[in-house]
Amino acid sequence: MDAVQVVWFKRDLRVADHAPLLAAARRGPVLPLYIVEPGLVRQPDYGPAHWTFVRESLRELRASLAALGQPLLVRVGEATKVLQGLHEAAPFAALWAHEETGLAWSFARDRAVRAWAQSRGIPFTELPQHGVVRGYAARYPSRAAWSARWEERMRGPALAPPAALRPVPDLAHGSLPTHQQLGLPPDDRLERQAGGESAGLALRDAFLGGGAAGYRRGMSSPNTAPDACSRLSPHLAWGTVSLRALVLATKQSGVGSRESREGPLPLLASLPSAASDSLATPYSPDSRLPTHDSPRDLAAFASRLHWHCHFMQKLEDAGRIERESLVAPYDELRAVELGIFVGGLGREERLAAWRAGQTGYPLIDACARALRGTGWLPFRMRALLVSFAAHDLWLPWQTFSDGLARLWLDYEPGIHLCQVQMQSGVTAGDALRLYNPTKQALDHDPAGVFIRRWVPELRRVPLPYLHQPWTMPAEEAANVGWVVGRDYPLPIVDHEAASGAARAAIGLFRRRPDVQAATQAMRDRHSDPRRNAARPDAAAKQRARGQLSLF
Ligand SMILES: Cc1cc2nc3c(=O)[nH]c(=O)nc-3n(C[C@H](O)[C@H](O)[C@H](O)COP(=O)(O)OP(=O)(O)OC[C@H]3O[C@@H](n4cnc5c(N)ncnc54)[C@H](O)[C@@H]3O)c2cc1C
Repeated sequence: MDAVQVVWFKRDLRVADHAPLLAAARRGPVLPLYIVEPGLVRQPDYGPAHWTFVRESLRELRASLAALGQPLLVRVGEATKVLQGLHEAAPFAALWAHEETGLAWSFARDRAVRAWAQSRGIPFTELPQHGVVRGYAARYPSRAAWSARWEERMRGPALAPPAALRPVPDLAHGSLPTHQQLGLPPDDRLERQAGGESAGLALRDAFLGGGAAGYRRGMSSPNTAPDACSRLSPHLAWGTVSLRALVLATKQSGVGSRESREGPLPLLASLPSAASDSLATPYSPDSRLPTHDSPRDLAAFASRLHWHCHFMQKLEDAGRIERESLVAPYDELRAVELGIFVGGLGREERLAAWRAGQTGYPLIDACARALRGTGWLPFRMRALLVSFAAHDLWLPWQTFSDGLARLWLDYEPGIHLCQVQMQSGVTAGDALRLYNPTKQALDHDPAGVFIRRWVPELRRVPLPYLHQPWTMPAEEAANVGWVVGRDYPLPIVDHEAASGAARAAIGLFRRRPDVQAATQAMRDRHSDPRRNAARPDAAAKQRARGQLSLF
């Protein structure tokens, strides 16, 4: 038997545009492997919905690989032990995987696997799968060139799956454990987004094939966003859809020039020499997609694919943001209670009410419950939920970050941590994201459709009072047999008082010299001098919004 190649699948559960799979297939028989890691599943940010999606995706991946000649092997255990066991059963010559940008746990796991492979003289090649550049912060003093690197990485063509895999016989394929077997609670969401590469590609085709029209207009309201947005996020997070291939398909369907189809494939620059030529097989199922008639919608979508990697790069560069605020002194900010909470609720009680969707603010409660029921919210509603927790309830982001992560079906650590910190105001941006929950409800759910759906105890409340049920006169409430405080909570905090107190406390805190120095240091590190010099107004606006170049 030729030198057997193991391809370790992690957050890249697909066969298309999979450089490690192609490289391995070129060199010998392939053993595709997924390791179900109980240590990972026990992490506080891992939730039952994640396993549902991954399990479905693995089922399809197994079938796709079987059709190519070698089904997926599934093993349960700690990664180095699994690899050792596999090596004893079927000695292999090389190990391939995609780079992963995760938290300390997966970083340590990958380091252990590298050490294991090195100790046995097995080459372990990890290839990038999108725009995140490994070791970028250490090699470059500023992020000025990052966007250019991203564009390079996104050049086409996308990679076709290998034509066939040479099998490795006589190995048990292994079964996929259930939630119960992994010690996970049942996944009790009411609505589920299907996992698997084909579901992801179908969403992509639907969105780029016309579904993007109205994207910008519909992306914020919880009523329109589920259809207006692409819903590709879980597929990008778990890798059933390649972000790079999606960028290419988006360009093909109408954003920017078509130049990239002919260019070199920079992802392959890091491959060992002989592998590159045959890997660059053009793969263009995307040619079915029509040129799009809504280029501004597609341009907005394309920017977000860029942001996806931008935020992941932050975590790649600074693993400390897993537990520490980007501007570290901010971790002291919410150590002091503000004392404005109705009934003097303690931190745990506030957190519990927010999690359960029992704050007395209809849109906040609808969002909390919709997230639990579906695993998804549009960006604006995510931002609102976090801003309310951080500002109105004065909760340190570290107290609710893991709980949210467990619920997002599309949990991507780098994006999640950056967004949670930005919306909590602990990064280097000037802007305070302090939303008024009632105004947001009136703007984005004026007819109360979303609120009534997720907070059924408000269904009897007439529309004029629905967004502020505590204002309904007792007589009118009695007419519909509804009592605030009995059928639905009174607000656990007064938004006006709480946001005023938060604003004042943050203003004062920001005057501290150590906070100013740490903020400035972060701005200097992350600003893009070339871009800011060329477009001073845009840079100032961006800074006010606390956006890309500063964080
Ligand atoms: C507190 C908070 C936590 C978040 N956590 C995550 C997370 O864990 N995983 C995640 O993918 N997104 C996260 N987001 C960003 C955003 O809300 C989701 O990407 C988006 O709602 C997913 O739906 P979609 O795929 O239909 O998005 P679309 O609007 O169709 O966007 C397409 C893709 O672009 C990327 N994208 C969109 N918006 C952003 C953004 N603001 N920052 C970075 N990338 C973006 C995503 O990959 C998304 O799938 C978070 C936002 C907030 C405010």
